[in-house]
Amino acid sequence: MSLLVKPCNFCDRPVAKGSGTMLAKNDGTVLWFCSSKCKKNMLDLKRDPRKLKWTKKYVKGGIRKK
Ligand SMILES: [Zn+2]
Repeated sequence: MSLLVKPCNFCDRPVAKGSGTMLAKNDGTVLWFCSSKCKKNMLDLKRDPRKLKWTKKYVKGGIRKK
């Protein structure tokens, strides 16, 4: 992975710098989103990417409980 590419904070797909959306939160965390779809899902809908099949974070068979 080059320095110019960051993983999308929601779906984990690579986002090239200059494309996608960067969001700096008040606490200093910087979030990268490949699309407004991912941004909306995380911030507005507060969905868990592990439960969505179109994200790379999707866990087959669901999330295991500890
Ligand atoms: Zn994404």
